[in-house]
Parts: sequence; structure tokens; C-alpha cells
Amino acid sequence: MKDRDSEKFIHALENDDTETLLSCRKSDLHCHAGKSCRREWLCERLNASIPAPPERFDGLTGMQTWFEQNIKPECAGFTGNILRWEGAFMEAGRNDLARLVLIFGTSDVDGAGGIGPFAGLIRDMNRKYCPQTLLEPELTFVSSCSAKEEAARMDEYVSSGVFRSIDVCGGENVQPVEAYLPLYRKAEQYGLLKRMHAGETGSAEDVERAADVLGLDEIHHGIRAAASSRVMRMLADRGIRLNVCPTSNVMLGFVKDLASHPVRILIDNGVPVTVNTDDLLIFGSTVENEYRKLYRAGTLTAEQLDEVRLCGLGPCLRA
Ligand SMILES: [Zn+2]
Repeated sequence: MKDRDSEKFIHALENDDTETLLSCRKSDLHCHAGKSCRREWLCERLNASIPAPPERFDGLTGMQTWFEQNIKPECAGFTGNILRWEGAFMEAGRNDLARLVLIFGTSDVDGAGGIGPFAGLIRDMNRKYCPQTLLEPELTFVSSCSAKEEAARMDEYVSSGVFRSIDVCGGENVQPVEAYLPLYRKAEQYGLLKRMHAGETGSAEDVERAADVLGLDEIHHGIRAAASSRVMRMLADRGIRLNVCPTSNVMLGFVKDLASHPVRILIDNGVPVTVNTDDLLIFGSTVENEYRKLYRAGTLTAEQLDEVRLCGLGPCLRA
């Protein structure tokens, strides 16, 4: 399969032509709203200097500590949060994103003053900075939450139709996946796409279990599935797409380097994969740069990367 940008995209990768890569249609289906602007952009807006992150973090906790110590003091509170959202929309415009899944928490909605003002805020930013981008807001819950309590008040967040999908993030195996069933049942009731962070640190079997128990449509990360042919076959057969974030995996120490990133094994086994940024403000790699880096590291060919790009432009593949 190819589209009108395929040839130009493949050539741009082969010639390391960033400008052309930026102009090709792409998607970012896994980015956390409050951490998805470019650091350089934020420094300029704040007239502040935020140090570059270390090459490697000590896992998710190390990353969060760095964020709290280096970013939060420069742009604190809800105003700081909104500024970082603005940067995420700016980046979507700069990178000509056709689809953008921005992940928000319920506290983001509360901070904006409720679902009405929240919807207005993100709609205005979408129109102003990236009118060509289809915004698909995702509502996430932290893995340590009480799913029963969250599900009981979920209607106020999802009934207006602003959110297109739900997610659980913030560390795996904090509770058995069955604990999240109330959230995913509610998502089904509202026709929301069901995603979850799984298989970033957890095992291939954890990915399988989450997909089975919660009926997931897509998985954020899911890279550990590469350790099991059986689980990869299940993902391929069901069309469960993995929204992978290569630089994030390397910087958090979950993958040794890009050249050995499991994305190649996943693709060789027919698993649908997309490439995304996760937390651009922290990992510092924009969407076009993720493609560029995977090509330069020899992880995937330019043609394979074009297939990945096309995969991210299409709808959910779940059979
Ligand atoms: Zn994530």
C-alpha cells in the first residue's frame, strides 16, 4: 500500500531530508498532552533555560523526577500545563500531523473547569495551530486508581463525546488487569476505543492477558510481545495495533539501543505498528525524527518505515 507521500517520504529518509519528512502526512497516536511540546519551544516561550535531559533515565520514576525538578518549576500550575498543551498543538502543525492522539487525565479536565471549557480550549488550539490535524483526545487513568470509583464518575467526562478512547498508564502490574474492567466496560458503553499502556516493562503474557481480559483495540508500547511468537500471532490475527515509542524505550532503559529495538521483530511477525513520541518534552525526539533515527540505525528500511507511517494514518484495525 502507498499514498501520495510514499515516494517523497522514502526519498527523504534516504537523503536525510528533514524538511521533506516534515511535510509528509504522519500521525502521533501516543503522546501525553502535558509533556508533548518541544523543549526548545518552551524555553523560548518562557525565556528560560531548561537543561537537556540525560541520555538515560532510571526508568519511569527517574523520568518523572527529572520532569518535576527541571520542567515543573519553570511552568507550574494549570497555566503551565496549558502552555505545554499549546506547544503540543504547535508541534502537530509544524510536523503536518494528519492524526493526533493527545492523552489527558481527569485532572486536566477538572483544571480547565469541567468538560465544556476543556473541550473549548483544545478545540481552539486545534483550530489555531493545526487545523489540518484530526484531534482524537484520549482519557487516561493512572494504574494505581480505584477503577470502580473512576468508572462511577466517568460519565461526566465521556458523555459529551470529546474523548475518543481510554487508556491506563503510569506503571504496569500495579493491580491485576481485571481491576480495570469497570473502566473498559464504561468505555464500551460509550463506543470509545480501548487502549492501555502494556508490555513496556511487563511481559508478552501481560500483553496477552490485558488484550484478552479488557478487549483492547490497541496497545501503547506492547514491545515485550516480541518475546513470544504466540502473542505476536494473536496481535496480528486480531489487528491489535501497537503504538510504539522507540526513543522513549531507549532513554528509559527498556531497550538497549535503536538498532536492536524489537519493532523490527514485531513487523517481521505481521504485528501492526505505529511510531510515536510519548513525551516529546522529555525524550526530545519529534515524530519525523523518530522515523529518521530508525532508518539511520538500520532498524527498518525506508519502505518499512513508510508502511509504519501509513499504518498510523488509517483507522483502528481491530478485527
Ligand atoms: Zn506513554
